Amino acid sequence: PLRDWQRELRAQFPIITAHPELAYLDSAATAQKPRAVLDAAQEYLVTGNANAGRGTYPWANRTTAALAATRARVAEFLGDPDPARSTVHLVSGTSEGLRSVALDWLVPQLAPGDEILVPFADHQANLAPWREAERALARAGVGITVRGLPYQDSSGDYDHRALRALVGPRTRFVAATHVHHVLGGDMNVHRLREVLGPEVPICLDAAQGVGHLPLSVAELDVDFVVFSGHKALALPGTGAVWARQARGPAYRPGGWQGTPNTVGAVSLAAALDWLTAADVRRIERWTVGLAARLTEGLRRLPQYEVLGCQLSLAADSAAARRRGIVSFRHRDITSADLGFVLYSHGYMVRADALCRAGVDPADERAGVVRVSTHVYNTPEEIDGLLSVLDTLD
Ligand code: PMP
Repeated sequence: PLRDWQRELRAQFPIITAHPELAYLDSAATAQKPRAVLDAAQEYLVTGNANAGRGTYPWANRTTAALAATRARVAEFLGDPDPARSTVHLVSGTSEGLRSVALDWLVPQLAPGDEILVPFADHQANLAPWREAERALARAGVGITVRGLPYQDSSGDYDHRALRALVGPRTRFVAATHVHHVLGGDMNVHRLREVLGPEVPICLDAAQGVGHLPLSVAELDVDFVVFSGHKALALPGTGAVWARQARGPAYRPGGWQGTPNTVGAVSLAAALDWLTAADVRRIERWTVGLAARLTEGLRRLPQYEVLGCQLSLAADSAAARRRGIVSFRHRDITSADLGFVLYSHGYMVRADALCRAGVDPADERAGVVRVSTHVYNTPEEIDGLLSVLDTLD
């Protein structure tokens, strides 16, 4: 059963097994690494570390090949039906990846009067680069319009009806989010494509999706997928941009113009292998189950308000679904204080304004507690957290 499978996988995370008194519930910020990923990184560094794209000796060739293999692995993991025609760029994370799509790819495409639609209430990393593109174009005398993707409060998804009214012949590009980093709902990307029609490129911020639910670029019909390898069990400073076309955004920091994160790339391939073997669908069922347990427990504690709790918990519902992320606040206690109390009991959660676009990080009332899960978390951790929360009224 699922529980035995999970016990076996949890045992593969050295940092988790080394600290039975702690519960790591901040995987949306960065995930812990299984031994296979640590071993792959160590093996690379110990048996043949060199720079890539230069040198004629075996360690250098091996490194160059490892980077190419990671790019191919990313395309395969994302269900790319035609990797010969697409591009993968390895980057340091979603923030850099989105910025690269905005500045290296989008800016040269746009003409005066063009419109782009971007999320105004998702992660700051998926708003700042589009604003930067707008400013760069304005400096070059090209005025574009940046509009907000409208939301539907009842589902947590984008409002496709309102969107239909916004989309027109000048709409050149849409940036969207796969899974919301605060609300945990997944956005209906199929509907987005239906409303936009086949021509408008969609760039998906998949930071909270990759590794948590199957993501197929062929099924979703998107043009760019950007994600953070470090949230998908790889080492810090890893991520990728997948572009449907052969001319994706230029590879700025790495490529052959600088030294890429070679060990990070090795770790990313190992992480994607690990996730595939573990079975992303099972990880999905596990973390959705943990989030449902927490949401139901919080509903019994009237001093807490769960954000976006109207999201459906049914994993097969057509509406926006809650993934393994739950955010909530206490009637009286600030999120910072809650975070402090929770850690004194061993629970590591995120407790602040969560990099949400349009929210002042210094605004205490904007703070929430976010519990985010991965395959190593357990129902016992959720129950223990709930019992601490219950004592605070
Ligand atoms: N987008 C979303 C939805 C995120 O949750 C995050 C991670 N906090 C980012 C972008 C930024 O990712 P990174 O820090 O790896 O650049």
